[in-house]
Amino acid sequence: MTGDARYQMLWDCPGCDTAGLLALDHKFCPVCGTPQDPKLRYFPSDEQKVAVEDHPYHGADKVCGACDTPNVATAGFCTACGSAMDDAKAAARREDRVVADGAADAGDNTKAARDEAKQKRQAAEERRVREAAGQPAEPSKPRRGMGAYLGLGCGAIVAIAALGCVGFFLLSWLLQTQDTLTVSGHTWDRRVDVEVLGPVKKSDWKDEVPAAASDVVCRSEKKDTKKVPDGEDCQMRKKDLGDGTFTEVRECTTRYRTEDVFGEKCSYTVVTWSKARSEQAAGADLSPRWPQVTLTPAKEREGKRHETYTLALTDSKGQGHTCDLAEPAWRSYAQGSKVQASFGGLTGLIDCGSLAPAR
Ligand SMILES: [Zn+2]
Ligand SMILES: [Zn+2]
Repeated sequence: MTGDARYQMLWDCPGCDTAGLLALDHKFCPVCGTPQDPKLRYFPSDEQKVAVEDHPYHGADKVCGACDTPNVATAGFCTACGSAMDDAKAAARREDRVVADGAADAGDNTKAARDEAKQKRQAAEERRVREAAGQPAEPSKPRRGMGAYLGLGCGAIVAIAALGCVGFFLLSWLLQTQDTLTVSGHTWDRRVDVEVLGPVKKSDWKDEVPAAASDVVCRSEKKDTKKVPDGEDCQMRKKDLGDGTFTEVRECTTRYRTEDVFGEKCSYTVVTWSKARSEQAAGADLSPRWPQVTLTPAKEREGKRHETYTLALTDSKGQGHTCDLAEPAWRSYAQGSKVQASFGGLTGLIDCGSLAPAR
């Protein structure tokens, strides 16, 4: 079945207290004849380990339904009472035993085997009770490690922060107030960027430097990080084969470390269009216009255009507020007309999105 090394598990006789019996060789106590209980097999310490040679593996033992004696998987009839082994159950197996790589194993003992059997019995009992109550037979939760508690703590902090955020907005929304305001003024601001063609200093990774660049100076610089393999973390897993023997399997996972990746960062000069200035026009009326732009031919061109339309408002207490709006909306509110708006309950700021003509 397996090419891994195979060793005998041990058992202690509950009838006469003989300790350290070999679980493959002694299905009965050689002193008092008590049959072995597969549930109480235990893993030996490194010093107690006895290798199995020339004994093929046929599968886990079968336990006689009539007298509870473990028999080899191939047995047709029980060696103790002679009953047919047709529907005999496979022997219970111990949980895997995991030992850090290179660490000595002190082995476990009958008590550990007994405790494990008791835990399994209780888990099975809980499952039965849940099933009888019509609840899903979910496996009992594994015990939480320190990391799980840490994760729980972080999760709680995130949840509290999110709740706080939601609470703030909800409170702000609940406490928000309405007011009727008067339109007290219109202002506008329009700008046109002017770009000039000329040498510009830039910096890029070498493969992104344009072909037309001049004065290229490169030096090595950290560009990225990558994960590189850096040895292995290994452990020895001992698996109960169910026939009084166990195998040892070495399991390894690759460890990684982070390494900096360097690239050639280059500063260079390239002739290109870049923003040199912007022409502005502004006013406090309803006739916005674009500024006069005078360009030097072949050297300058128009760039991006920017426009802002601001409505000045006075609330019922005489306080001033402003809202930036799209041009049609800004134009639709006549000087001196009444508008409604909400104010944040906690911030006291006007919500320009809620602006509407007063009914
Ligand atoms: Zn005995
Ligand atoms: Zn039997």
